Amino acid sequence: MHDEFAKIEWLKSRFDLDGESKKPIVGIGDDAAVLDLGAGPTVVTVDTHVEGVHFTRDLISCRDLGYRAMVAAASDVWAMAAMPSASVVALSLPADLSDEQFRELIEGLAEAAHSTGARVVGGNLSRGPSLTVTTTVLGSPVGESVTRSGARPGDGVYVTGTLGSAALGLAVLQTRDLETGHAPSFVKRWRRPPLHGAAAKALASIATAAVDVSDGCLQDLQHVCAASNVGAILSADAIPNAPDYKATCEGLGRDPTALSLTGGEDYELMFTAPESPEAKALGTKIGRIVDGSGVRVIDEAGQAIEFAETGFRHFS
Ligand SMILES: [Mg+2]
Repeated sequence: MHDEFAKIEWLKSRFDLDGESKKPIVGIGDDAAVLDLGAGPTVVTVDTHVEGVHFTRDLISCRDLGYRAMVAAASDVWAMAAMPSASVVALSLPADLSDEQFRELIEGLAEAAHSTGARVVGGNLSRGPSLTVTTTVLGSPVGESVTRSGARPGDGVYVTGTLGSAALGLAVLQTRDLETGHAPSFVKRWRRPPLHGAAAKALASIATAAVDVSDGCLQDLQHVCAASNVGAILSADAIPNAPDYKATCEGLGRDPTALSLTGGEDYELMFTAPESPEAKALGTKIGRIVDGSGVRVIDEAGQAIEFAETGFRHFS
């Protein structure tokens, strides 16, 4: 059980509440769970940022870290076509975190709580060996929740914004080469994920399935395909990239296509939907859902492209 997804499969069976009366509307395995607590459905998700795993303090300020942790958690709520409404935050604080860094962390969390709507209503503070920020966000579906399991053959695959920018920003930071191309704009994109409240509202009436791009487009689309029992074909040349993305990738010796499709932490929304002007207005069409299983990536000539890595995996 070394793999993240093997662990999730086992704990799903261990925590399975089938047969009990309080079965969730959506349970383990989607971006967020959906519960009926008596006053309509509530969406809930939790996300952890661990120092040394997701960030180091020389790569991101404590203010940006707080902001990023909250937006990353809210992103899972938006991916369910729901709006964040409240949050609780657990912080583990190492002895070398200064009061100034602590204040900045809280300022970043507060700023993102305001921007996302996930007002902080509680949490927990503890001493710990490294800085961790664990954010639980609650929200309410705009209409019907959009899960990962509703994709149908014939649907288009769409993505908001651009892909690869956050992974490129992290690559820039790791090589410390801020002179290449538009490097600083990509660094900012990694530190401050985008807000998708408006897109989440639109998803409710358009999308058959949705996921946020956190582990990499290819891997996250594989989750949608597996949950929906379908396959997908992605067109590499249709992937939307930021201006100067390709030049900056090449300056750093990175493959722009591989980074777009397998780099994580974009926190864009990927969704499937029948073709419509509304779907086109919300995202760029990057592929289509087909019968079968798995995701195939093709180039302009229709030839399959293979990647060594499909995306970020914990425990591997
Ligand atoms: Mg997610």
